[in-house]
Amino acid sequence: MKELVILSGKGGTGKTSLTGSIAYVAKEKLLLADCDVDASNMHLITSKEKLHSREYKNGFTANVDAGLCTACGICEKECAFDAIHINNEKAVVNEMFCEGCGLCVRLCPEKAISLSEMRVGEITVYMTRFNKKLVSAMMDSKRERSGKLVSEVKNVARDEAASENDEYIILDGPPGIGCPAIASLGRVDYALLVAEPTMTGYHDMVRIHELIKHFRIKTGLVVNKSDINADMRRKILEYGSKESISLIGEIEYDDAFIEAVRRNITAAEYSERLKDKTMKIWENIKEEIK
Ligand code: SF4
Ligand code: SF4
Repeated sequence: MKELVILSGKGGTGKTSLTGSIAYVAKEKLLLADCDVDASNMHLITSKEKLHSREYKNGFTANVDAGLCTACGICEKECAFDAIHINNEKAVVNEMFCEGCGLCVRLCPEKAISLSEMRVGEITVYMTRFNKKLVSAMMDSKRERSGKLVSEVKNVARDEAASENDEYIILDGPPGIGCPAIASLGRVDYALLVAEPTMTGYHDMVRIHELIKHFRIKTGLVVNKSDINADMRRKILEYGSKESISLIGEIEYDDAFIEAVRRNITAAEYSERLKDKTMKIWENIKEEIK
């Protein structure tokens, strides 16, 4: 089973629509996974039905039994993370700051504090219209640890793909170069960059490629909206050539991307031209992964 991650360094490059389009045109058995856990949207354009979902918990947080708390202030004084404060004569935990170290549990003279596992978000498995599974996750608001949730999405994706004898897992990567992007790159066989020929598109591509280089992952490039700026397109292609990134395909500007999203379908489903383009891109990717 081969894993491929599709990244762009930021949102809005048509990456998700292209990823969904590949799943639509591919004849092979494959599974999709949406690693943009802060704003997952692959299910909106591909899913047919929800199969199952479960909570994802990671780490611990302190809880105070207000009935036992005497507001002695020991926990507030000793917490190194400024995560617990006396409010209206009771200790109150700020989960955003609590590291679950358990010190307050040990120090509380009234045994009023306990630790509980912290819910980070929910992972859902969908069936898409293309009879390929999609693993997606939604992180709870105000939660951090999105990198851990991305890793868990990948774990679930591997289990689901193994049970279906899938040949490929295609990961729709998160934006940025932080923990979620790093987590999405772990143990993948191939990275595909989707770049737009604009100054910011160029810099986003370079930033994410600098990160990919640390993982020594073979990398390809698709230039989307390739005809909107000839100079920037040349600059992107020159960078790709200098860095030994294979050019997998170019897609000229097409309103079909926007129209498809409006209709909650992939670009390849909406446009025959984009379907043909996507098929060529998928063929090129398979050649590269071989
Ligand atoms: S140490 Fe225990 S009793 Fe004292 S304020 Fe904290 S929770 Fe309340
Ligand atoms: S568990 Fe640790 S971090 Fe959380 S409130 Fe208690 S002392 Fe602070």
